[in-house]
Amino acid sequence: MTWVITALCQDCLDISCVGVCPVNCIYRYTGTDPKFPNRLFIDPQECIDCGACEPECPWEAIFKDDAVPAIFANDIALDAAIVGAPREVPERPADQKAPTPDEVKANKKKWGYT
Ligand code: SF4
Ligand code: SF4
Repeated sequence: MTWVITALCQDCLDISCVGVCPVNCIYRYTGTDPKFPNRLFIDPQECIDCGACEPECPWEAIFKDDAVPAIFANDIALDAAIVGAPREVPERPADQKAPTPDEVKANKKKWGYT
């Protein structure tokens, strides 16, 4: 089992999740392939299924693979595509601000997840 980052992370990139992952398997894509959006990705081969990242994500973007909402189903394969791709473990900027509840709600609405 693995956990999956969905489109709710896209362009949000709070990066809180990275700090709690015990195996450093949450990555930013560093290549040039446009199929990788501006979000983070969990390597399903390295994820140990601890679940620590999910409550850390202020955007509520992370789901267990068997509980990914249907509207984000394609994100399972997109996360898996990070295996072998150019990547890095990003650092959270010290001045990063957490989103407000209204921003989280608006982001979900933007992606059709309400
Ligand atoms: S905490 Fe959530 S929104 Fe932030 S980078 Fe991680 S998955 Fe993306
Ligand atoms: S479930 Fe655990 S091991 Fe997997 S990405 Fe989240 S924090 Fe890392």
